Amino acid sequence: MNGPETSESSFNRRAILKAGSATLTGMAAAGVAKAAPPPMRLIAVEEAWACPEWMDAMASVPAQGLEEDEVRAFRMLAHIGDIHARLLDMQLRQSTMDQNAVDMHVLSLTAPGVQSFDGATALRLARLTNDRLARIVADQPRRYAALASVPPQDVPGAIAEIRRARRELGLNGIIINSHTRGEYLDDRKYWPLFEAAAETGAPVYIHPRTPNPAMAPLFRDYNLWGAIYGYGAETGLHLIRLISSGLFDALPDLKVVVGHMGEGLPYWFYRIDHMHRNMVTLAKPPLRPVLKKMPSDYFRSNISITTSGVNWHQALQFADQVVGADNIMFAIDYPYERTEEAVSFIRSAPLPADKLERIAFRNAERVFGIKPAA
Ligand code: MN
Repeated sequence: MNGPETSESSFNRRAILKAGSATLTGMAAAGVAKAAPPPMRLIAVEEAWACPEWMDAMASVPAQGLEEDEVRAFRMLAHIGDIHARLLDMQLRQSTMDQNAVDMHVLSLTAPGVQSFDGATALRLARLTNDRLARIVADQPRRYAALASVPPQDVPGAIAEIRRARRELGLNGIIINSHTRGEYLDDRKYWPLFEAAAETGAPVYIHPRTPNPAMAPLFRDYNLWGAIYGYGAETGLHLIRLISSGLFDALPDLKVVVGHMGEGLPYWFYRIDHMHRNMVTLAKPPLRPVLKKMPSDYFRSNISITTSGVNWHQALQFADQVVGADNIMFAIDYPYERTEEAVSFIRSAPLPADKLERIAFRNAERVFGIKPAA
């Protein structure tokens, strides 16, 4: 009677009775008749991923020349916590998501993506990793979306891959990790890439990487090259070069996304607009390209920012005021940042519920074409 008789059914009956009385007690105490609603949907849009083939290829990039800083960064990260394991391990990723009620990761190949390789290797790795990501998304469409990597060092190859990633693989956008061989995408030779993105409706995430070789030496001492400052300086410069080039006037439907609360630029809006106006209107001839709008206006029409790595309510409130809640998306920057901190930051953000919902998931659904929750 002791063993089998203590059956699951009698155990369950006791558990149900116990749970029932606890629920009644809880309802009486709270004075409500319904269970709490499920937590707000969370879509995190800048979540790094890698596969072993990419890891092996990165390990073989020579540690001198234009990729010197990136190779140093890659080797350093291999020794910090379990970052490399977490880039590869989908089980660990999903249990971290589940533990923190994160509904979805928008995955992307971690920086510097395919941009440290020669053109042919880069295109091969882009196709391989994009195929791999498409499979992950197909297997778990409620948990994952993904951005495609493309090689700017092979513009025709990149254009073909943008079209394949959108039309055949159904990926949710494109990611490019700032400079390629020290060159920025405002150079007209790269504009066909943006034309292909606009033509296929693909948002282009401009993600950081180690600073341009032309300025890298000034970031090496004090270890300023990384997320502490170098990534933001590099990527903020890249973004303001894109704006200044007139790219968004030429392609008004182009959507660009940048992380890290706009890579510092929103805090500069007043000064950038003010000096842009002076340099265009007071100087004859103008000292800057004449744009259709003020530089900061493009953050409302063409650019979205994400919260990756900036779990700071004051910065979020400021971004809400100057960029607008429609142009901000939640991101964790897994596995480089802690999921717990990012989730607690967004769930406790001092903003009205309707704005918070846009930041937490609605803008991501719109920008990346993610299916709304049922
Ligand atoms: Mn990132």
